[in-house]
Formats: sequence, structure tokens, C-alpha cells
Amino acid sequence: MTAKKTHLRVPFADLHRQYLSIKPEIDAAISKTIETSAFIRGPEVDAFENAFAKAIGPDHCVSCANGTDAIYIAMKMLGVRPNDQVIVPAMSWISTSETVSQAGADVVFCDIDPVTNTLDPAKLEACITERTVGIIPVHLYGHPADMGRIIEIADKNSLWVIEDCAQAHLSEFKGSKVGTFGIAATFSFYPGKNLGAMGDAGAIVTKSRDLAEGMAKFARHGGLRKGDHEIEGINSRLDGLQAAILNVKLPHLEDWTAKRAELAEKYTQKLAHLDALTCPTTAEDARHVWHLYVVRTKDRDGLAEHLKAHNVQTSINYPKALPFLPCYARLGHRPEDFPNAYALQNEGLALPIFPEMTDAELDHVCTSIEKFFRA
Ligand SMILES: *Cc1c(COP(=O)(O)O)cnc(C)c1O
Repeated sequence: MTAKKTHLRVPFADLHRQYLSIKPEIDAAISKTIETSAFIRGPEVDAFENAFAKAIGPDHCVSCANGTDAIYIAMKMLGVRPNDQVIVPAMSWISTSETVSQAGADVVFCDIDPVTNTLDPAKLEACITERTVGIIPVHLYGHPADMGRIIEIADKNSLWVIEDCAQAHLSEFKGSKVGTFGIAATFSFYPGKNLGAMGDAGAIVTKSRDLAEGMAKFARHGGLRKGDHEIEGINSRLDGLQAAILNVKLPHLEDWTAKRAELAEKYTQKLAHLDALTCPTTAEDARHVWHLYVVRTKDRDGLAEHLKAHNVQTSINYPKALPFLPCYARLGHRPEDFPNAYALQNEGLALPIFPEMTDAELDHVCTSIEKFFRA
């Protein structure tokens, strides 16, 4: 039998393959949690908080229910209030901006750099007013934001920085891991993230003991001991099953990240010669962790359709930059306000990339893309 290349289906991601690669460990961790009924808090949650703090760098890790809550909890404990302004990049997942509104503040969008797709420091100062209290840079797609210049501007203006690291576990800027620059950094372990649970999960890391304690309290009904509600909080906990799964997966993260980088390099080798396509690049001194491999082309929708016809699943992250979403229509933003975010929304296409992806699958994606541009 000869292999029928045209019948190869390339999924955008394949979580089941990852599960199969570590099935005995995962199954044992899940059974153990069930056998011991350690569903809320418990040894797995404590162990994960310790291991994750060690993996990223800051001393403290506060786990919570998801990456969105993580941003909200951090902002609440930094004292964000009505009438405050918080600056976020114009291209991100909605969590980055909706939490600003949930915390009671006003969101201010800043355009992105057209090469790194992260908050553009050159446009940051123009966004600062006397009402600004903080900045939330996002390490989009796994590429670190320019934390050198962002921290410099934040310090000069006495603003806090919360790093949104939801897509950037183990990413580095100038040799330091993302998550070590701001006063706090938030992570998501949504199943499809570089480190994913089997449900929702999130965490915040911080160098500040006081902030960590405040955030842990807030996430657990305002008190760390039963019946002891020092403040009003919310219920946002990492559950024992998810922690047990994350404890199995965390030791694999470095290898999985290296695999993503290998795939990204192969993509670029095979696609860089196409004039009508722009491959993503990595800034000098940056470690890109390739949550997404996002190419750009003028006929993005045509390419996506063509790839779908060739059984290649792609994704648009995101079809509308934040300022152009219906929920922000009240702000009256126009494309020319955020030209780089607007171009990315129209030209960006994320190709399949996941650690278990095979060379045959990557070849099929690249051959299909070449066919599109040759036609
Ligand atoms: C996924 C994501 C989040 C939110 O994480 P959840 O765990 O899904 O709540 C926040 N910010 C960015 C940039 C993300 O990609």
C-alpha cells in the first residue's frame, strides 16, 4: 500500500497524543487523587505551587481556577479602583482587557510592534495619563514582550506591571524568564496552552510575599483559614485533579518546548522562500516558546480555505483585535488607531504546531502552502 498524502489530516493541535505519551503517569495521578479525595487544595496543589514557582523564578505561586481569574485577582490586590486606567496591547485574547473592566478600571489599548506582535514600547508613553496605574504586557504567541523598555517606562511613571504569560511558559527575554519582570505574572493552564491541564486552571507568580498572601486570600473567599474572612474575596481555586495532572506534565515542559522550537525552525526553513508569505521571527536575546506559529499573508482567508481543502486545520488568533470587538464599540476606535494590530487581524494565520506533530504532517502543511502560492 502506498501512503496517500492527500488523505493526511493535520489537526491544529492534538491533546490526545500528548495524553497517550504519558498515560500511565496521568492515570495514576488521577486515581490517587480520587482515592484520597483530595479534590480541593491538598498535597497536589501545594506541590504544584512550589514546583511552578521554582520553574519560573519568583518565590511565590498562587494557584487559581484559570488564567483570566489570575489577572483579575492580581489587579484587585494591587488596589485597582474605578477611574483608574490600565494599558493593554491591542492584540490579545479578551481576558487581558475584560479583567480590567471587571476590576472596575478603564481599559486603554496600545498598538503592538509589527515584528514581535507584542506591546510596542515606542507607543506606550503616549497612552499614559494621570489616571494610569498599570500596564499588562502580553507575551503573545510565546514571544516575549520588550520587558526592558516596558519596565523602564513603568518605573519612570510609577506604574505596576502584570505580565500576561498565558501563552509563554518558559519564554525568556534577555536570559530571564518571562514572569520575573513585573510585580506579578499570570499563567493559564487551559488544555491547549503550552502547559495544559485537563480542564481550567491558572496561577499567579510574584516576588512579593505580601502580594502573594493577599492574592491567595482573595482567591479563597478572603481568608486562608476556614471561617476566617478578613476581606471579601471570590472562589477561584485550582482543583486537586488538575494540580495532579499538572504535576505530571510540568517535568515534560522543557522537552515539549524544545520540540515546538524545532518544528518552528523547520517551518521557517521550508516556507521562508515564499515572497508572499511572512514567517514569524524571534527578536535577538529572546526565547520564543512557539505557543503559536503565525504566518502573515495578504490573502490570508484564501490560504486558510486552501489549507482546509487539503485537510490542514488552521486558526486565526484573533479575527478581531481587541479595540474592534463589539464589546468595545463604545470606545469608537478606528483601524488607523492601531494599524499594526489591525494588519495582524487581517493577515495572521496560525499553522498547526504541537510537540507531538510529525515531520510528515509538517511537510504536508508546507507542501500545501507552496501549492497555494504556485497556483
Ligand atoms: C488563554 C489566555 C488567557 C486566559 O486564560 P484562561 O485560563 O482561558 O482563563 C489570558 N490571556 C491570554 C493572552 C491567553 O491566551
